[in-house]
Amino acid sequence: MRALISVSDKTGIVELAQTLHGLGVSLISTGGTAKLLAEKGLPVTEVAEVTAFPEMLDGRVKTLHPKVHGGLLARRDVPEHMAALKTHGIDTIDLLIVNLYPFEATVAKPGCTLEDAIENIDIGGPAMVRSAAKNWKDVAVLTDAAQYPAVIDELKASGKLSDKTRFALSVAAFNRISQYDGAISDYLSSIEFEAGVSVPKMSAFPGQANGRFIKLQDLRYGENPHQAAAFYRDLYPAPGSLVTAKQLQGKELSYNNIADADAAWECVKCFDVPACVIVKHANPCGVAMGKDALESYSKAFQTDPTSAFGGIIAFNRPVDKAAAEAVSKQFVEVLMAPAYSEEALAIFKAKANVRVLEIALPKGGATAWDKGLNASDTKRVGSGMLIQSADNHVLNRADLKVVTKLQPTEQQLEDLLFAWKVAKFVKSNAIVFCKDGMTMGVGAGQMSRLDSARIASIKAGHANLTLQGTAVASDAFFPFRDGLDVVIDQGATCVIQPGGSMRDQEVIDAADERGVVMVTTGVRHFRH
Ligand code: 5GP
Repeated sequence: MRALISVSDKTGIVELAQTLHGLGVSLISTGGTAKLLAEKGLPVTEVAEVTAFPEMLDGRVKTLHPKVHGGLLARRDVPEHMAALKTHGIDTIDLLIVNLYPFEATVAKPGCTLEDAIENIDIGGPAMVRSAAKNWKDVAVLTDAAQYPAVIDELKASGKLSDKTRFALSVAAFNRISQYDGAISDYLSSIEFEAGVSVPKMSAFPGQANGRFIKLQDLRYGENPHQAAAFYRDLYPAPGSLVTAKQLQGKELSYNNIADADAAWECVKCFDVPACVIVKHANPCGVAMGKDALESYSKAFQTDPTSAFGGIIAFNRPVDKAAAEAVSKQFVEVLMAPAYSEEALAIFKAKANVRVLEIALPKGGATAWDKGLNASDTKRVGSGMLIQSADNHVLNRADLKVVTKLQPTEQQLEDLLFAWKVAKFVKSNAIVFCKDGMTMGVGAGQMSRLDSARIASIKAGHANLTLQGTAVASDAFFPFRDGLDVVIDQGATCVIQPGGSMRDQEVIDAADERGVVMVTTGVRHFRH
C-alpha cells in the first residue's frame, strides 16, 4: 500500500505516518511534510523524486503530474487502466492524506491583502483530493485530522478500509472542497478591486452574499427534544455577534439557550451606557440602565422577578464581584458579558451549570460592519425561505415628532427613547412601560395590542410596580384609542409609537383629551 501525504496543518500527521509505516505502508510526501516526517526518522520519498520533476513556482506546482494523478485515478478493476500505469511507470496511490493551504484562516486575519489570499488558494491539494475522492472504490482520502483516529483503528484491525469508510471519506472530501471553494468565492465576491490598490476594500458584509455557513456544533436537540438541530455561523460573522462568544463554563448551550441569548445580546448591545437585559422565551422580561452592572441588573430584575427565574442575562459592561453576587442569587441559564472579574468568575465556579459566555462588544466605527450590525435575517417557511435585511434602524431624537399639544420634558424624552429601544426586541404586539431607565411592564407577543397593554399592566402589578408617570412604547401604531386608554388608565404620561394608522387623529385627540404627551417615530418594529 502506498500513501501520499501533503498537509499544511501538520497536526497529528507524525503519529499517523508512524502508524502507517508500522503497517508496512510506503510514504510519499511533498516538501514541507516530507521534511518533517524525515526529521522524525520515517522513510519517506519526496513527490519530486516520484515525478522526476522539481516542485516549482513557489510550490504552485508540486503534485500536478500524471505520476500522481494516474496513481490516484486508475481503476484497479479495469485492465487497460492498470496496463497504462505499467507502460508509463506509474505506481498506484491507495491512501491520500491532504489538508489544504489555510485560505479561510488567512482571509480571516485583519489586514489580509489580496496577494496573501491568492497565494493561499491551494491548487494541487484539491486536485488530488478530487482524484482520490472520485476513485473512492480504490483510494481512501483523508482531509481532516479528526478522521485519523478512526482510520488508524480500522487499518490496525483489518489491514484495510471498508467500502463504507472509503465512501464516507469521499463524501467528506467533496464537502471539504466545496466549502473551500465557497470560501474563495465568498472572499473574492466581498472585495472591491480598484486598480493600483493592493489591499482590498472589504464590503460592508464580507462573505454574506452567498449565505455561506460554517457548522459550529451539533446540538443535543432543537426547540423540543424530538427535533434534531445544529448551530451554524456565517463564514464571516459580524464582530461582537453571539457566534463569536467564548464559553467560559457551564453546560452545553441548547437550541433555546442560543436563540434567547441572541435576543438578549442584540438588545444589550444597543445601549451606550451600562445596561442589563434579562430574556425569557425570546422576550425581554427586564431591561434597565444603571450606573454599573449591579445597578442595571437589580433594576432589570425588579421588572418581573417571576419570569426572570431561569432567564438569560446579558450585560454590556464587565461583571464585577457585586453584580456576580446579585446574579448568583437567582436561577440563571446563560450569562453574557464582555468580561468578568476574577472574583465574579470564582462566584460562578460554584454554580457549575451556569453557562458563562464572554463576548467582545463590537469596536464601533463608521461602517455597519464595524458597528457589529447583522446583515440579514432569515426565516424558513415550508420549503422556502424569507430573507430580509436585519432591523438595524436606530432612532435619533431629531426623527421624533411631537403630535400632542403637550410637549415632552427632557426626562420623558429619555424614557420614551429607552422604551422604544426595548420595544424593538419585544415580540409583536409589544407594549413596554418604562420609567427612569428601567422597564416597568412588558406586554409581548399578543394577537391584539389591547391585550399586550393589559398584560403589561398586570405584570407590573404582580411585580408591585406602580405605572404612575411611566413612558410607554408601542412597536406599531394604535389602530384604535382603546389600547392608549388602557396605558393612560394605568398611569402612563407619555407615549411613543410609529403613527400611520387610519385613525391617527382619533388616537392623537385621545392623547390630548387625556393630557398625555405623544411622539411618533415614523418607523415601526414588528418582530415575529
Ligand atoms: P508541504 O508543507 O508538504 O510542502 O505542502 C503541503 C501543502 O501543499 C498541502 O496543503 C497541499 O494541499 C499543497 N499542495 C500539494 N500539491 C500542490 C500543488 O501542486 N500545488 C499547490 N498549489 N499546492 C499543493
